[in-house]
Amino acid sequence: MIYLNYTRYGGAVSHADSTWSSLGKVNIYPKPSNSSNWNLTINEYNQNDGLCGKYALGEIKLNVYYFANYNDWNRKSCVSHEFGHALGIGDHDEEYNCIALLYKVVGCFISPQSHDKKDYYDRWQ
Ligand SMILES: [Zn+2]
Repeated sequence: MIYLNYTRYGGAVSHADSTWSSLGKVNIYPKPSNSSNWNLTINEYNQNDGLCGKYALGEIKLNVYYFANYNDWNRKSCVSHEFGHALGIGDHDEEYNCIALLYKVVGCFISPQSHDKKDYYDRWQ
C-alpha cells in the first residue's frame, strides 16, 4: 500500500504506517518521489460532522475541524483507525467498549488490538 500524504499530520501518518507495517503482511510505504504510482491518498477536510476522518475509494480524509484540537495520541488513533479501513478492515459497530482500534471512538488505541489483528490476518494471509 503506497500512500501520498497531502496533510499536515505527517507524524501521525508515519505512526499509522509503522504500527500496521509491523504486522508484516502488507508492504506500506510513502510514495517515492521518483514514482508516480500510489493507491492511497491522504487529504484533509473541515466539517463539523462528528467524524475524525473517513475512508473511501483509496482516499483517507482527516477532519481538520477536530484534528486542530487533538493531542498527538488522538491524531495517531484516528489515522491508524483509517489506515485499518484502507487495509480492508471494517468498523466494530457491535462493540460497546474500547477493545479494538477499529472501534468507532477516537482515542482508545493507537495500534491494532487482538480483534484488529485477527481481521487483518483473515484479510491478508
Ligand atoms: Zn471507522
